[in-house]
Amino acid sequence: MSGDEFDIIRQHFTHQPVVREDVLLGVGDDAALLQVAAGAELVVCMDTLVAGVHFSADTPAAAIGHKALAVNLSDLAAMGAEPAWATLALTLPEYHPVWLSDFARGFFALADHYRVQLVGGDTTHGPLAVTVQVHGFIRNGKALRRSGAQPGDRIYVTGTLGDAGLALVLRAAAGEALRRRLDYPLPRIEAGLALRKYASAMIDVSDGLLADLGHLLEGGDLGARLDVDALPHSSAFLEAMEQPGPGPHPPFYELPLSAGDDYELCFTVSPQHCAAVEARLGGLVCGCTAIGVIEPQPGIRCHRRDGSDYRPATRGYLHFVGE
Ligand code: ADP
Ligand code: MG
Repeated sequence: MSGDEFDIIRQHFTHQPVVREDVLLGVGDDAALLQVAAGAELVVCMDTLVAGVHFSADTPAAAIGHKALAVNLSDLAAMGAEPAWATLALTLPEYHPVWLSDFARGFFALADHYRVQLVGGDTTHGPLAVTVQVHGFIRNGKALRRSGAQPGDRIYVTGTLGDAGLALVLRAAAGEALRRRLDYPLPRIEAGLALRKYASAMIDVSDGLLADLGHLLEGGDLGARLDVDALPHSSAFLEAMEQPGPGPHPPFYELPLSAGDDYELCFTVSPQHCAAVEARLGGLVCGCTAIGVIEPQPGIRCHRRDGSDYRPATRGYLHFVGE
């Protein structure tokens, strides 16, 4: 790619309807100048999507643009933060104007929705990879961390689990609804903001419920009891699991427990706040579901509604299961 092409690429990323007052200087200079309001902490995170590792070659460019931002906004949501700014590092194998405008469309549709302004980035030549960094705010001392859960706290998740994982298993046979859950995950920003007052700990489910819930337990040497019959499923998940697939379906409970990429929030709430949380999140599209309780003994113990034990089959996560 020539220098002219880099200029054109930058052009793709300078026209955005969202113009924030706290951006003193955005794309175009050597660096951006940003104003953090008094009384707020800056919340920063970054995630990279690499072609062939985090998405397949046939993923639409708009989906890559959306998801690169969405997975970062999901991390801000998990802190209870309000998003504000983003930077974008693009490594591109070739100059492809149609791909770039599709990518930008996916990226900016989500950025505009949450009033996130792209304030800078970098463009390089090489195997396709997209790194996004997002910046958000939280009132001093109010961020929700992975640590903070207490024995007796209820465990909740937003939305539904296993959809993105089933889309990956079914590949071309996955229906539109499951495919969208994989390609266009919706960061649970509103839920994260609503939970600032109530949750004791929170994480987003990017690597699978057992793995990510495990991170909530690590700090305090805590454990959890999970009711696998309470795990929330989408209607698309239930329908697809009932239909004969091209190959065998994974066992019913496995994807919601172990598959990644759903980008729901998993959080804990002390019993006195549960009614308020259910009312607040019940008013959001994603809703929330109680799936278990924090216990003092380390390990995650899964059980069925009839009280019998359920042993997750996924070997990779067996070390999270209690003895
Ligand atoms: P420098 O060589 O000084 O680092 P660059 O040519 O890399 O400058 O970038 C010039 C401007 O364009 C900077 O403001 C930078 O933040 C912005 N920019 C470069 N690539 C991107 C991109 N992919 N998305 C958004 N802004 C970008
Ligand atoms: Mg640069």
